[in-house]
Amino acid sequence: MDLNRWLGEATKAIEEWSEGFGPYQPHPALDLADDTFGAAFAEFTERLRDNYPFFHPRYAGQMLKPPHPAAVVGYLTAMLINPNNHALDGGPATARMEREAVAQLAAMFGFETHLGHLTTSGTIANLEALFVARESHPGKGVAYSAEAHYTHGRMCGVLGMEGHSVPADGTGRIDLEALEDVLRTGRVGTVVLTTGTTGLGAVDPVHQALPLCRRYGARVHVDAAYGGFFTLLAGSDGPAGLAEEPWRAIAECDSVVIDPHKHGLQPYGCGAVIFRDAEVGRFYLHDSPYTYFTSTDLHLGEISLECSRAGAAAAALWLTFRLLPPTPEGLGRVLAAGRRAALRWGELIDGSDALTLYQRPELDIVTYFPAVEAATLSAIDQASARVLAEGMTAPDPVFLSTLRASAGDFAHRHPGVDRDAEGARILRSVLMKPESEQHVEQLHTAVSRLV
Ligand SMILES: *Cc1c(COP(=O)(O)O)cnc(C)c1O
Repeated sequence: MDLNRWLGEATKAIEEWSEGFGPYQPHPALDLADDTFGAAFAEFTERLRDNYPFFHPRYAGQMLKPPHPAAVVGYLTAMLINPNNHALDGGPATARMEREAVAQLAAMFGFETHLGHLTTSGTIANLEALFVARESHPGKGVAYSAEAHYTHGRMCGVLGMEGHSVPADGTGRIDLEALEDVLRTGRVGTVVLTTGTTGLGAVDPVHQALPLCRRYGARVHVDAAYGGFFTLLAGSDGPAGLAEEPWRAIAECDSVVIDPHKHGLQPYGCGAVIFRDAEVGRFYLHDSPYTYFTSTDLHLGEISLECSRAGAAAAALWLTFRLLPPTPEGLGRVLAAGRRAALRWGELIDGSDALTLYQRPELDIVTYFPAVEAATLSAIDQASARVLAEGMTAPDPVFLSTLRASAGDFAHRHPGVDRDAEGARILRSVLMKPESEQHVEQLHTAVSRLV
């Protein structure tokens, strides 16, 4: 699609709608001459050049990529109206779009009932899930794996709950025996499982952890902020297919968080929290006259801790899903390409003298480190930092990221490495653009050359 054309159509559509309300005089206080604007815009676009090329497959670093043009057009068109999805009277159209998009997400996870809404981020979405966890299991704490996002520990502090960090196993998944030890103390009311950790893309065994948690009466929250859309590859044929069990088990958990602004092709400002039991709406009670809630008779503001929220974010997600729905044939194809790229790079590294895989990629995140003469943590750390820095200024640049791995993490995976330091930075590439699949050989060559 031609972005220029559809941005023009966007302003036209909103102008036509606006004209229906009759003429009015814009206030001179807001007047800007094109020349004046032009000078400021030139300075502005010049300053924006100080950025990394997130759009380009040579950028293989953090979880960053531009939104799909459909999302851009959806966002900007709705933004010209600027609805606020806090309340129905803030914009009925985008409130309905939000409900529909959230229902699609709930269906993707296999929830038979749900109550949910969009949030500004995965952080706020997880905060809401933990808030409901606290209200439904008063006085009890939260357990999460050592590889879980740091937000869980921090939000436990915000909510005044006890947080319990559970060790991860040698593949970055929550250690079930250690989890049971914590559950046995009776102090845990909620367990957070992560399907797609931020660092390694490791998927906690939800299907095994869930019955364990239930035995101890614990609530289960799934943080799928990063990995949620990989549900679309669960059980699919072909090289990108994922083991079904952990993903299917999400349907039986109590809540799930997903970030459409990560793998859902959206601009920042789009997370989502979904509860399986619509009754949890009662915990959000403020001045609402309702006593009992169903998923249909609530304003979005009545089931959300945030007040004002961009209706444009819902519009962008709705329009994107209209074209690339969260189905295996829609968005699933985008995810599958990134995963194939990661698996392919893993194979290339296996056959390489320059690089060593830190662990085999499970989703689309590849972790690796330069082969060094003296295999020590400090040498690996130095070499990784050098490759990261030199990659960005090389004639054929590559943009990577680093991840800190502890000496203990290394001992699990590479016992031969001399642990002369507390840990080491390793290299990490998130291959979240489908274009990475065509570029992975070049990336491998460029990084190997740097080593
Ligand atoms: C990104 C991420 C978060 C935080 O979400 P934001 O949208 O960055 O606030 C939480 N958990 C996981 C697993 C994530 O990957």
